[in-house]
Amino acid sequence: MNTLAANGGAVTWVKLDSHVAFHPKVMMAGLPAFGWWCAAIAHCRRYRTDGRIPASEVGIVWCGIDSGSLDVHAIVEQLIGVGLLEYSVSSGHYIIHDYFDVYPAPAADDGRRRRDAERKRVDRLAVLERDCWACAYCGVRLTANNAHVDHKIPLSRGGDSDPDNLVASCKSCNLSKGAKTPYEWWQEGGCKLRGGL
Ligand SMILES: [Zn+2]
Repeated sequence: MNTLAANGGAVTWVKLDSHVAFHPKVMMAGLPAFGWWCAAIAHCRRYRTDGRIPASEVGIVWCGIDSGSLDVHAIVEQLIGVGLLEYSVSSGHYIIHDYFDVYPAPAADDGRRRRDAERKRVDRLAVLERDCWACAYCGVRLTANNAHVDHKIPLSRGGDSDPDNLVASCKSCNLSKGAKTPYEWWQEGGCKLRGGL
């Protein structure tokens, strides 16, 4: 099974709350069942199954292959017993309990993705307008074709996408700066600032 084909290779995220290991249902399920449950949720997210897993697929949610030595059927019974999983006799599916309390239905998910993409496009234009279509680092004029928007503090370093952390940038400065902070970049001599940041 091609694990990336189902959603065009995009990665979707699985949410676990920070107290999950102390939830009574999880504690009663035990670690192997908890591991399978996490893999099952990831499977549902990857293939957009609405939290459903056909009975015939319970063996493949872990690593995408039939997990041989693991007694998956005992595990799913364990999860049903503690209330983390349900079984629909009519459809032959296992269903993650309360899946839609955490994850939107696929149609709503698509709508959210479109809205997020649209908001990012608008945010990007707002940053370029605010910075007068000039690179904040070297001052070169930007056009719609070559304008980049840079995270001053990179996302990988704890920065966010708040407009205060975004600046208009030329491709050359953006690539040169990479995942460095402005100060680190300046220390390396890569930043030709026209003013402070
Ligand atoms: Zn520049």
